[in-house]
Order: sequence, then C-alpha cells, then structure tokens
Amino acid sequence: MSLPARVVTLVVAFLAVVAGVVFVAFEFIGAQPRTDWLPPSVAVDPKGFILTGADAAQSSFWPLAEREPCVIETTCPGIFAAGDVRSNTTKRVAFAVGDGALAVTCAHRVLGEL
Ligand SMILES: Cc1cc2nc3c(=O)[nH]c(=O)nc-3n(C[C@H](O)[C@H](O)[C@H](O)COP(=O)(O)OP(=O)(O)OC[C@H]3O[C@@H](n4cnc5c(N)ncnc54)[C@H](O)[C@@H]3O)c2cc1C
Repeated sequence: MSLPARVVTLVVAFLAVVAGVVFVAFEFIGAQPRTDWLPPSVAVDPKGFILTGADAAQSSFWPLAEREPCVIETTCPGIFAAGDVRSNTTKRVAFAVGDGALAVTCAHRVLGEL
C-alpha cells in the first residue's frame, strides 16, 4: 500500500473510532424485578426485589419463631426465590445457577423439618 493510501486508511480508522466513541450508547435493560403479582406474604424491598434468608429473618415479615429461613427462602415459609429477583445479591449468571442448586438443599431442609 502506498504511503498516501496508508495515511488515508489511518485517518478513516481514527475517525471511525472517534465517531464510535461519540455515537455509541449502551442501554442496560432487564434489571427490573417483575414481582408486583406476588402476595404480601412474600415481602420485597423498596425496589421490588424479594427478601430471602437473612434479609427475610431480619424483616418483620418472617412468621416463624422456631426456625430461621433457609438462604433462599422468602418470608413465606417453604417458598423460595432464586437468581436476580433476590434482594441484596450479585446479579450474575453463576449466582443464579448457584441459587437453583441451593433450592434443592433448602427444599430438603424445610421438608425434613415438617
Ligand atoms: C444487559 C445485561 C447484561 C448482562 N451481562 C452479564 C454477564 O456478562 N455475565 C453475567 O454473569 N451476567 C450478566 N447479566 C446478568 C444475568 O443475565 C443474570 O444474572 C441472569 O440472567 C439471572 O438469571 P435469572 O434466572 O435469575 O433471571 P432471568 O435470566 O432474568 O430469567 C427470568 C425469567 O423469568 C421470566 N419471567 C419474569 N416474570 C415472569 C412471570 N410473571 N411469569 C413467567 N415468567 C416470568 C422472564 O421473562 C425471564 O425469562 C447481564 C444482565 C443484563 C440485563
């Protein structure tokens, strides 16, 4: 490639990068919990994320004195929440998958105490 062609290519590439930085916008969607259909017995935080585990225990909504809620148990005993919809959690795929696995453990524990 000749020198003038290289210069033109570099200038065009530079302008494209600058234009990209100026005109590209990132919209973060999908971070809003859809929990408005839940009954009041499943308590949520002010943003609509479901209280579970320690948050459920510390709230005034956990109804049982004889045991603490399991890690992913909501304020309604025996009802679990997993993934992004839980309050105070890291919103990442790996955490959601881990919650799903925890559901098995929690279900066994709760059923075992019946
Ligand atoms: C833009 C963006 C980028 C991300 N990038 C990354 C990343 O790079 N790495 C990473 O680890 N995580 C990333 N995340 C986070 C990751 O997507 C979430 O942590 C993960 O998907 C949570 O899984 P989930 O099953 O809890 O929820 P979701 O994947 O949101 O699944 C919930 C499902 O429930 C459905 N649903 C909702 N309400 C109802 C209802 N009433 N009845 C029936 N179905 C219903 C929804 O349609 C949805 O399909 C990103 C998230 C966003 C929004």
